[in-house]
Amino acid sequence: MPLDIPTLFVVSTCITALLGLFLLYLWVQDRTVRALGWWAAAYLIGGFAVALWMIGPMLSPAWPEDLAPALLFVCCGMIWSGARKFHNREVLPLAVVTGAIVWLLASYLPILAAGQSARVVLSSLIIATYAVLTAIELKRERRNPQTAHWRAIVVPILHGVIFLSPIVTMHFLSEDASGAGAGLGKGSFALFALLTLLYIVGTAFIVVVMAKEHAVLLHKTAAVTDPLTGLFNRRGYQEAAQRLIETQARKGEPVTVLMFDLDHFKSINDRFSHQVGDETLRVFAKTAGRNMRTADILGRLGGEEFSAILPGGLDVAFGVAERVRAAFDISGEEISNFLVRATVSIGAASAPAAGADLAVLTARADAALYRAKSHGRNRVVADWDGPTEPPAQATWPLFPDEEPDDKQQAQCASAMT
Ligand code: GH3
Ligand code: MG
Ligand code: MG
Repeated sequence: MPLDIPTLFVVSTCITALLGLFLLYLWVQDRTVRALGWWAAAYLIGGFAVALWMIGPMLSPAWPEDLAPALLFVCCGMIWSGARKFHNREVLPLAVVTGAIVWLLASYLPILAAGQSARVVLSSLIIATYAVLTAIELKRERRNPQTAHWRAIVVPILHGVIFLSPIVTMHFLSEDASGAGAGLGKGSFALFALLTLLYIVGTAFIVVVMAKEHAVLLHKTAAVTDPLTGLFNRRGYQEAAQRLIETQARKGEPVTVLMFDLDHFKSINDRFSHQVGDETLRVFAKTAGRNMRTADILGRLGGEEFSAILPGGLDVAFGVAERVRAAFDISGEEISNFLVRATVSIGAASAPAAGADLAVLTARADAALYRAKSHGRNRVVADWDGPTEPPAQATWPLFPDEEPDDKQQAQCASAMT
């Protein structure tokens, strides 16, 4: 079947521009995926650059032939920037235009002015560099392993082919026109152009899939996140806690639930304003997060009440709880330039994970928290009456280098009542 090369070229250009418009439309619909804006602009400028490449020389014999390739290299930089934006990394404007600058500067070199081969090699190098950079960015994707692996390889290759094809095309066209012969018949070249067209459409499809997955992930994350502190909300916490209980049950190990309640929080709101109250909640979330282990799960249940579930028994969890309490005693002292002196009371309860009921464990930890409040606040109280036996004396397994001082020992002892 005969395929007309110039027609294919024109069709490819139009489709690239149309896909650019399509991506632009998607970006306007959902601005949360800012990478879409970069990719849309790259497609639009890419289509424009190829059109310019074809019609430029018809407009004027003195048309600068390096302009269109330079524009295409900017597009490669923009695709890479889109991938960076996709992972909330900043765009590096100078690096976006470096390929184009190198190309324009190199065009003054005699070796580039002499023949097409040197031009193809240099342009391939520039494109390969941006393709590798894009691949590195996409490899960062850990949030959705479903498609991350294959697209980290496929997307940069597709981009490379798209932006390489016009240069290769021009190379073969000029060789054919000069009658020198490139060893590649017009039929193979037409097939190549057709494949390029399919690649352009395929890449846009992948980009849309990525953006869609990203948007779904954002919504899913929002559904389980507390907007004020960035911690799990009640729903997210309960789901994650249930998963931890199941994991620990398989290993035959216990879990411990901690209940946190900020002390006299109403009074903080009343004395210093609701904004300072909110900031106190944020400071607590940050302090608790920093002083817990990566396997520990922390969430805000509502108001000034937080809960955590930890793998391990009461003795280890007690050390974690005490570390959070002591750290917040310091970080809660001055908030937003006010001497707030915020503190937290903590209740702890433990059980073997097999057959553990989150609601029951939480109620036991809550009862211990109530005791912490009635014993004077700013302390940790553990429910040693549960299935876990209390240690002979308080242990501090998370602070091997640190001997508890007398005050802490006394507090710990009082907490075990
Ligand atoms: P206690 O030491 O016994 O726990 O006393 P408390 O004052 O902390 O407890 P109480 O339950 O009386 O007060 C909780 C307050 O938390 C009341 C409510 O206005 C405030 N609160 C709940 N949610 C928020 C919030 O998101 N931001 C702020 N700033 N305040 C909140
Ligand atoms: Mg409360
Ligand atoms: Mg409170």
